[in-house]
Amino acid sequence: PYRGPSAEQILEKRKRFLGPSLFHYYQKPLNIVEGKMQYLFDENGKRYLDAFAGIVTVSCGHCHPEIVKAITEQNNLLQHATTIYLHHAIADFAEELASKMPGNLKVVYFVNSGSEANELAMLMARLYSGNLGMIALRNAYHGGTSGTIGLTALSTWKYSIPQGEIHHVVNPDPYRGGFGSDAHHYAKDVQDHISYGTPGKVAGFIAETIQGVGGAVELAPGYLKLVYDIVRKAGGVCIADEVQTGFGRTGSHYWGFETQGVIPDIVTMAKGIGNGLPLGAVVTTPEIANVMAQKIQFNTFGGNPVCSAGGLAVLRVLDKEKRQTHCSDVGSHLIGRLKDLQQRHEIIGDVRGRGLMVGIELVTDRKEKTPAKAETAVLFEKMRELGVLVGKGGLHGNVFRIKPPMCFTRNDADFLVDALDYAMSKI
Ligand code: PMP
Repeated sequence: PYRGPSAEQILEKRKRFLGPSLFHYYQKPLNIVEGKMQYLFDENGKRYLDAFAGIVTVSCGHCHPEIVKAITEQNNLLQHATTIYLHHAIADFAEELASKMPGNLKVVYFVNSGSEANELAMLMARLYSGNLGMIALRNAYHGGTSGTIGLTALSTWKYSIPQGEIHHVVNPDPYRGGFGSDAHHYAKDVQDHISYGTPGKVAGFIAETIQGVGGAVELAPGYLKLVYDIVRKAGGVCIADEVQTGFGRTGSHYWGFETQGVIPDIVTMAKGIGNGLPLGAVVTTPEIANVMAQKIQFNTFGGNPVCSAGGLAVLRVLDKEKRQTHCSDVGSHLIGRLKDLQQRHEIIGDVRGRGLMVGIELVTDRKEKTPAKAETAVLFEKMRELGVLVGKGGLHGNVFRIKPPMCFTRNDADFLVDALDYAMSKI
């Protein structure tokens, strides 16, 4: 039995001692005390099916025994060293991660979060190209640090500070975008920004390969290929933010960018790479890495022995348990069932995604695509009551984000869809 403080006591303490900018899900916030693979438990022992994985972070499953073992063994031996000394864990982890990358993406940097990874990537792009301007997509989320906040393009997350030299291009969103799925029209907007809004040269382009916080928006097919060409011609480098889409989650490919048939110059990662450990990485080519050698680039905790041991265990578990194939199988089943549900519930405007990176956009009017903001909020609470935790996203908070731990099964998918069907039939 749980003997810790109640939800109310924790909330009260959070209000007194933590920043007022924090937000929580659910009117009565959930107090989570334990996690086991795709399940979470609250203080009363109620079990929830976790379809959001701590915001797309718990890739292998909560407290996966092999990852816990790897972390615990390293914790007992040596917790911290930094790269001023030698330690095998960071080198082994880098070797394994590099082996997962295509092309000449062979040089690894470890950091502690996705924001830090994107900060470093932006720094590399600027140093390597000698240019300042960065291009990012509207509806993107790339971080909340003072540099990455400029790349992020959702007003919810943007404080009024100097945003840096960033150009936000039209989002190639097949559902809401003005050009539908026509990648050429969206790509032309990138060329126009470069031609009219910059000196004709840019530092780089960054995009998530399926937008996460923005509501599981998959980019129009063929978009990245066209844009990578345009950006490289303008002297820039191409960055893929794989913080949410990497490690097989999309099912069809190990990396999200592969779904668009491109090879980036820099790839950033976080979240799923650590199954919950504070860990991020940047992988790039030796040519780009060379510009960083002008100075010392140092990160106290980046790739520390415990995170490296855990991260290496994550990569091995994902391979051993064949999670990429599993995501493809369970994901297509889930998407198929959600598309059936769409036939019966007018409120479902769009079902989209790949593998276990799925979005359900709710609208009050299918033709006008009016965001069903209030209805989404009601359904969200109802799903929690039914024991299913999903995420919410999109600028209007009208998209359910289904991105569970990758051990999520077909039965779990069925339970989620049945719960959603029931909840929708009640509003
Ligand atoms: N990139 C993407 C695509 C993300 O979803 C996030 C976090 N939601 C980040 C970067 C920033 O990661 P972190 O919160 O670890 O700084």
